[in-house]
Amino acid sequence: MSCKTVLSKEISSSFREELKATIKSRGIKPKLVGFLANQDPSAVKYAESTSKTCEETGVVFELRKCNREELEDQIVEANEDDNIHGIMVYYPVFGDHVEGLCHKYIYNMYHNVRFLDREETKKCIIPCTPLAIVKVLEFIGVYNPVLPYGNRLHGRVITIINRSEIVGRPLAALLANDGGKVFSVDINSIQEFHRGTGLKLKKHEVRDTNLKLEEIVPISDVVITGVPTPSYKLPTALLRDGVIVINFSAFKNFEDNVREKASIYVPAVGKVTIAMLERNLLRLFDYKSQD
Ligand code: NAD
Repeated sequence: MSCKTVLSKEISSSFREELKATIKSRGIKPKLVGFLANQDPSAVKYAESTSKTCEETGVVFELRKCNREELEDQIVEANEDDNIHGIMVYYPVFGDHVEGLCHKYIYNMYHNVRFLDREETKKCIIPCTPLAIVKVLEFIGVYNPVLPYGNRLHGRVITIINRSEIVGRPLAALLANDGGKVFSVDINSIQEFHRGTGLKLKKHEVRDTNLKLEEIVPISDVVITGVPTPSYKLPTALLRDGVIVINFSAFKNFEDNVREKASIYVPAVGKVTIAMLERNLLRLFDYKSQD
């Protein structure tokens, strides 16, 4: 068996070091407020690890626990507070998700608009879990640096099993905008996100397919899972030899023998997500001070 397991700690360490050095050398105190309006064990764990990483890197983190009914007012209040540079809402809320980003960033992400300004000095904010998975794919070499920026996934076939508004759908759009052919799987359907043959489209388009999981997984170079149930296991037998597999669900979505087929296995991405959350926070800090 020659599978390499890559841990999120390893992927995130250079980002954490850079964040720590930047915050220290600039003598700034970016502040993040996290809202926890549920008892979900994954959310509580996520909030705890955010707090720990923030402390290590020099970000001021405050966790505010509230009722679901109070959440909206509290978010509005925090948004108006000049001393708060970023807000994090730990899902789930109301059993479903509210969107994590303001309209402009969501629009830009889906339309492949990468900067806020014409001079291209201000990068758009991308939600932290999809961004973390992009960084994982860069780290393990799925992005081909020989190709021009924006096309580095050309030729890659990627399956994502999850199409939530917060992770799976934005991730499919980002990877397709970067040139990949992406199969986006949810409990009801499979869609294809792509920029056409030869990347003739400037931004991705989406089409429904009648293909089955059994047909797309064997032709995928990368399979990314995010099914939030402990019983879900993607059969190893479906995977092609040498596939790259990444799991972002709180539960292991691959079978124990996945290493027999995979060339690279990333079992979790949580630490990279938190590093991206802090990176987004620093961007928001700078944009706020430039206003
Ligand atoms: P969600 O419930 O909003 O979405 C789940 C998605 O999985 C949906 O698209 C659903 O259709 C699909 N799905 C469910 N069962 C399926 C099946 N049998 N076959 C195919 N698709 C199926 O959940 P979410 O917020 O996207 O979170 C998913 C998981 O990812 C959770 O375990 C969550 O804790 C984890 N998560 C991790 C991070 C991180 O940084 N590590 C961040 C966010 C979420």
